[in-house]
Amino acid sequence: ASASEEKDLVIIGGGVAGYVAAIKAGQEGLKVACIEKRGALGGTCLNVGCIPSKSLLNNSHLYHQILHDTKNRGIEVGDVKLNLQAMMKAKDTSVTGLTKGIEFLFKKNGVEYIKGTGSFVNEHEIKVALNDGGETSVTGKNILIATGSEATPFPGLEIDEKRVITSTGALSLEKVPEKMIVIGGGIIGLEMGSVWSRLGAKVTVVEFLDQIGGPGMDTEISKSIQKLLKKQGMEFKLGTKVVSGDASGDNVKLEVDSAKGGKAETLDADVVLVAIGRRPYTKGLGLENAGLEVDERGRVVIDSEYRTKASHIRCIGDVTFGPMLAHKAEEEAVAAVEYIKKGYGHVNYGVIPSVMYTHPEVAWVGQSEQDLKKANIPYKVGSFPFSANSRAKTNLDTDGMVKMLADPETDRLLGCHIVGPNAGEMIAEATLALEYGASTEDIARTCHAHPTLAEAFKEAAMATYSKAIHY
Ligand code: FAD
Ligand code: NAD
Repeated sequence: ASASEEKDLVIIGGGVAGYVAAIKAGQEGLKVACIEKRGALGGTCLNVGCIPSKSLLNNSHLYHQILHDTKNRGIEVGDVKLNLQAMMKAKDTSVTGLTKGIEFLFKKNGVEYIKGTGSFVNEHEIKVALNDGGETSVTGKNILIATGSEATPFPGLEIDEKRVITSTGALSLEKVPEKMIVIGGGIIGLEMGSVWSRLGAKVTVVEFLDQIGGPGMDTEISKSIQKLLKKQGMEFKLGTKVVSGDASGDNVKLEVDSAKGGKAETLDADVVLVAIGRRPYTKGLGLENAGLEVDERGRVVIDSEYRTKASHIRCIGDVTFGPMLAHKAEEEAVAAVEYIKKGYGHVNYGVIPSVMYTHPEVAWVGQSEQDLKKANIPYKVGSFPFSANSRAKTNLDTDGMVKMLADPETDRLLGCHIVGPNAGEMIAEATLALEYGASTEDIARTCHAHPTLAEAFKEAAMATYSKAIHY
């Protein structure tokens, strides 16, 4: 296929949303092109998001554990040293392996990969400024916008990705800062804050709200992980907003104020991580040339079938509504292509899991206690602590619990919230249960292998509809 012929589908953006749609479209026999400007496929997630952060989280956890948690396991270690450069190299190797893997999948599924920046000329034509110079244009019967998001900047603090950083800078610092302040105690702040705290930085998280974890985290679980992160050395200033910043001196200075007004204070650090959320990215896309709109938060406006005002132009992923998560983008990609090819598709937005990859991990799906209270929905609660789970005990990793919320009459699962080892894997079981409308009794009567952490999940279900055996 050549760029000049009309495609069935032209995708702008080769992130998770765009690349998954491209592969799916190829599998469905559509003639498809995907335009990506980064020089690598996989978008934020693979290049500067999910994947590199998990590499650093995994290896910094290992380092921290070797430093602090070996003696009681009967392991004596000698001199332990951090080689930050090598840790970064391991991260880069994982990233490159995965992004190259997508290029291979593009070839395998007949997807044309156009390396450059795409912008609308009109409703059907996309002009591409090629990365290697020059320009081309491509037309599509259908077009999919999947241009993702970028870090929201903090007004008055210029990002240099060295001293004032976003998550991107936090993934490639050249040395461990002495003091790091994180503005925003959401998922990015806590994951990247954990990495640098484990590697030796004194990390303080300043969060506007009265709880950490960002929107959606159950309040009880949030309190529990905050205690555990504090024990690991992170400090928290909740109900505190950063009013202004000054990076002109040796250290970066931040003026903070109590969120309700009143108690002003100046904080300083050698590195400040700005992690106050992400915003949709449509810069230079020329949406106006196709007559398309964004809402007050910059999100491309779509209907329930991902169609913009022009019904052959669809939009998915971080650049439109919904949680900014890779697996949400992936679900939408498959559904959007199914709408194009078959006329129907489906994503259940009530059942999208969230995972925070700290140690222990936090994971949840469905509604939180505060959601249910707000919506006046009756519920009952059951929980089970990992300290009563045999596998967690043998692993000497007993912090946390599984908490379930269920309909008091039918026992139908309404939400599951886990803080604990492997919570991110265990939440898949809750997600499946919720998707299939399982009751806590269904879960409790399902045989779980022993000794596994997943038995805590089963016992939390038992505690919700009846009584746990081991607690
Ligand atoms: P993106 O991944 O942002 O991809 C959009 C792509 O479009 C980019 O590559 C961009 O270069 C390209 N593009 C933009 N405009 C144009 C144009 N005009 N022409 C050509 N190309 C263009 N989510 C999870 O589910 N789990 C995690 O563990 C997780 N960890 C994260 C950690 C960090 C530090 C960050 C920042 C994010 C994390 N996320 C995680 C969120 C996840 O990365 C996003 O939800 C996901 O990448 C969204 O996919 P997307 O395809 O919509 O957008
Ligand atoms: P977030 O919305 O999760 O958290 C931002 C936090 O900053 C909020 O708690 C907010 O109250 C606080 N805040 C905003 N302004 C502030 C101020 N002036 N002072 C103090 N606090 C302030 O956003 P994020 O952590 O930047 O993450 C962005 C997106 O990336 C999220 O949608 C998240 O889902 C996604 N992400 C996901 C993962 C994962 O799934 N593991 C990992 C990283 C990022």
